Amino acid sequence: MRFDTLSLSASAALLFLSSSSQFTQAYILPPHAIPAPGLVARQEPVASAVNSTFIACLKPLGAKVLQRKTAGFEKERYAFDLRYTYNPEVVVMAASAADVQVAVKCAKASNVPVAPRSGGHSFEGYSIGGQDGSLVLDLSGLNSVKVTGSGATAEAKVGSGVRLGPLYLALFNQGGWTLNGGTCPSVGVGGHTLGGGFGLLSRKYGLLIDSLLEIEVVNADGNLVTASKTQNQDLFYALRGAGGGSYGVVTSFTYRPIKPAAKATSFTYNWPLSQASAVLKAYVEFQPTASRDIGVEMNVAPDGLMMYGIYQGTKADQATAMASFLTAAGKPKSSDVREGRYIDGQLRFAYIYNDPKDINALGLTGGYKPGDSRYTKGKSLVYPSVLKTSTINLLKKWGAKTPSGGTANYIIVDIWGGAVQDHSADETAFIHRDAHTVFEFVSEWDENPDWMNDMYAEFLTDFKANYGPVRGYQNYIDKDMPNWQDAYYGSAITRLKQIKKSVDPGNVFRFPQSIPLP
Ligand SMILES: Cc1cc2nc3c(=O)[nH]c(=O)nc-3n(C[C@H](O)[C@H](O)[C@H](O)COP(=O)(O)OP(=O)(O)OC[C@H]3O[C@@H](n4cnc5c(N)ncnc54)[C@H](O)[C@@H]3O)c2cc1C
Repeated sequence: MRFDTLSLSASAALLFLSSSSQFTQAYILPPHAIPAPGLVARQEPVASAVNSTFIACLKPLGAKVLQRKTAGFEKERYAFDLRYTYNPEVVVMAASAADVQVAVKCAKASNVPVAPRSGGHSFEGYSIGGQDGSLVLDLSGLNSVKVTGSGATAEAKVGSGVRLGPLYLALFNQGGWTLNGGTCPSVGVGGHTLGGGFGLLSRKYGLLIDSLLEIEVVNADGNLVTASKTQNQDLFYALRGAGGGSYGVVTSFTYRPIKPAAKATSFTYNWPLSQASAVLKAYVEFQPTASRDIGVEMNVAPDGLMMYGIYQGTKADQATAMASFLTAAGKPKSSDVREGRYIDGQLRFAYIYNDPKDINALGLTGGYKPGDSRYTKGKSLVYPSVLKTSTINLLKKWGAKTPSGGTANYIIVDIWGGAVQDHSADETAFIHRDAHTVFEFVSEWDENPDWMNDMYAEFLTDFKANYGPVRGYQNYIDKDMPNWQDAYYGSAITRLKQIKKSVDPGNVFRFPQSIPLP
């Protein structure tokens, strides 16, 4: 499937970069797009076999309940990833925490698994259940963002169906605030926060979970409870890193918002792949001493290497902060460094427009270029130390290869460190505090995922030889991850299973990679 074909249909919301295009090219996906006819073969939903007691129980929710073969269901059963053809039993379009409570109680009584959906970006379709027969709880109606207080005690209460773009815009409009999440505007706060949440402010302020003060969550009994450092502490621990879909349905997050620097400098640098060895070596060696004001990511693809990021400060200070890296990396083919407000950088790297002018575009309320869903696969590796030459050589080798039958492949190399490491590995369920560098491998293809599998096998062999136990980032969830419980949660898995037993002994919140009962 080619992007240019895909881009003929649909309306809003997710960036992807194509190896056959410039890095700055935007590809925008709709939240739950219906593929254009003829592009995708899908299973038709079969008539519901669920018992009438379940449906009767949901009756108080009225038209918010979409059953198979009823109007609106077809549109809502899609994930952005076209690999998935799961058929939920029902989709509930929740408009309040009370709706969520009704739905969870009914699901529990009829033993139907519950799949909460915030932004719908799960790489394995887990917010449509990851299997047939779930109750999908769409949370897009829980969309409020409210900042109260000021200064160091300000709080931002955010509905769990809010997406990152609208979140950043609403925070900006309520006093120039922001948060330390990722760049893609259509990713939902729900899944993103509960799996950690890394973004361009994380080296300075930590992960999104590190900004959390309180979480409201509907538990397996259908009760609305609060988890924080003083209430339901075990649940608060588990939700921060292992929370996606396993312990309850989060209805709101309360964060400590961040006031970014008055002036911020966004930047891109491009190098040809022929310079990859020097650039990547300089990049990973830069990590430990790099200023925390530098938030940066690097894409490796057949087009070459593109570094992009935002510095908290002026253009002159950015040049000083990056000087040692740039000298070691070698002269870029091109660069584009712009001083402005932090939100201008956020908009720029939301990839909504090549030359963004209107910050209101972050609201995802319209005005987007066409795009579409696609077949995609994501994988990850979390490196605990500076990369060895063998790993850099693999990046160079696989970055240069275009998959046969596919349209895009790239590897995103993020240097972490900084404030991510200010928290101990057992403070939250997010264990990768020592991460030096994190890779996200992304492949998009017509029908042949072998490229991804062959590449990942080589990286795994190299990892095992050089870095110890294999680790992956749970927000890039991958059903093929070897020993996924260890890779995502390490030794925390024992505690996480115990917490699961105490809050959800009936396993209401289950999908193929949910935290299991002990
Ligand atoms: C284009 C793209 C860009 C990305 N960029 C980044 C990035 O910069 N940094 C980063 O760290 N990650 C990034 N990710 C990964 C992203 O953080 C995860 O895919 C995340 O899980 C998506 O959250 P979501 O709410 O959109 O997804 P969903 O599919 O809605 O949810 C993901 C999982 O969380 C569960 N869940 C969702 N909402 C709730 C809730 N309210 N209560 C309980 N469980 C819930 C779902 O059931 C599912 O299991 C990116 C992903 C994509 C596709």
